[in-house]
Amino acid sequence: MDDTQKTAIMQAVDGLFDGEIAFLAELTSHPSTRGKEQSAQNFMAAELTERGYRTDRWLIDVNDIAQLPGFSPVIGNYDDAVNVVGTHDSRSNAGRSLILNGHIDVVPEGPLDMWDANPYAPHVDDGWLYGRGSGDMKAGLASNLFALDALKSLGFAPAANVHFQSVVEEECTGNGALACLQRGYRADAALIPEPFDEDLVTAQVGVIWLEVHLRGIPVHVATAGSGSNAIEAAIPLIAALHDLENRWNRPEGRHCDYGHNHHPLNLNIGRIQGGDWASSVPAWCVFEVRMGIFPGQDIDEARREIENTIMEAASQHPFLANNRPEIIYHGFLAEGYALSQHKGDTAGQAISALERAHQSVNGKALDKVAITATTDARFFGLYADTPTLVYGPKADAIHGFNERVDLESVRRVTQATALFIADWCGLEPL
Ligand SMILES: [Zn+2]
Repeated sequence: MDDTQKTAIMQAVDGLFDGEIAFLAELTSHPSTRGKEQSAQNFMAAELTERGYRTDRWLIDVNDIAQLPGFSPVIGNYDDAVNVVGTHDSRSNAGRSLILNGHIDVVPEGPLDMWDANPYAPHVDDGWLYGRGSGDMKAGLASNLFALDALKSLGFAPAANVHFQSVVEEECTGNGALACLQRGYRADAALIPEPFDEDLVTAQVGVIWLEVHLRGIPVHVATAGSGSNAIEAAIPLIAALHDLENRWNRPEGRHCDYGHNHHPLNLNIGRIQGGDWASSVPAWCVFEVRMGIFPGQDIDEARREIENTIMEAASQHPFLANNRPEIIYHGFLAEGYALSQHKGDTAGQAISALERAHQSVNGKALDKVAITATTDARFFGLYADTPTLVYGPKADAIHGFNERVDLESVRRVTQATALFIADWCGLEPL
């Protein structure tokens, strides 16, 4: 690609950018929390169809994916989980194919009185677009779509097949991306514009979610000595899990991509419930755990270590020793993933193409980061050997209040994505 062509592509993104902001605002107005993604997915499907993509909209059947590597257990059914994929079928297939992936689900908005404005009535202020999901990651979906639009406005299409994916379930299992693999979507590389400040994510941790169920003996508090307090029994178990967390984070055990980070694996006790009455010794307690693991760390082995840690601590407890905790998995059973895990040249070529695109837009080198969270990249990377680049705009307060995305950053990422597509796939006349 010569400089004239690069400039034309970046200007084409500029020319469509007002429309991209309007699209992003409309998409953000759909409150697509888990189980309520349908209206947003209908909107995406209509936009893809209108643009002439071959649109595939389907209900995920948990039976189709439950046996596949990377599946995370779910509670309840999937009667409402709809994926949408729009495919550009290249006429020449002269270049390398690409998956452009983004998730449509957003995390709950939390108490509305903590927001300065309605999280689903997006507004622009001082260069930021506010709303739940604006950054994580509807701006990424907009960027993927409008990068293709920009090429089209110049009379070009990618010279290879491109699958535009809008998936559910990223925030709790990743089963939406897994369902795309099961349905047969494959490409030479994938791009996911999650909001990591225009850095390239080189590695991500895995995440395990589990529930620990404890029983006690309910008595009146006046005779508390004869009962067993299920809430207090959780305390030494949580302490033991933090000891395990500290062991896993020791410098000698750290994955090479995380050498600089003194505490990449985080244990979180995200939720606890128990008891029924202030004057009754609680008979039950349930706490929910989130634990990180490194890329390459065996997830079954990690699960065994976590279970052994809980059972070992329980065996030291007078009541739990004979009334073992019950451990239930639901939600994430996600392995870690690093671009360095790929053998062969394809990952390096994809990274180089993105480096060139980023440099052209920003006039500086692409920064790289190993993140302490997970993304859907692991499915394409680990289970389809598809190098997956996570590269998206700057956002703020994702999962928090007054979530917002930096619109100039969205513009730059859309430009870089358009240049990346042109470089990676090549171009053919419409
Ligand atoms: Zn996200």
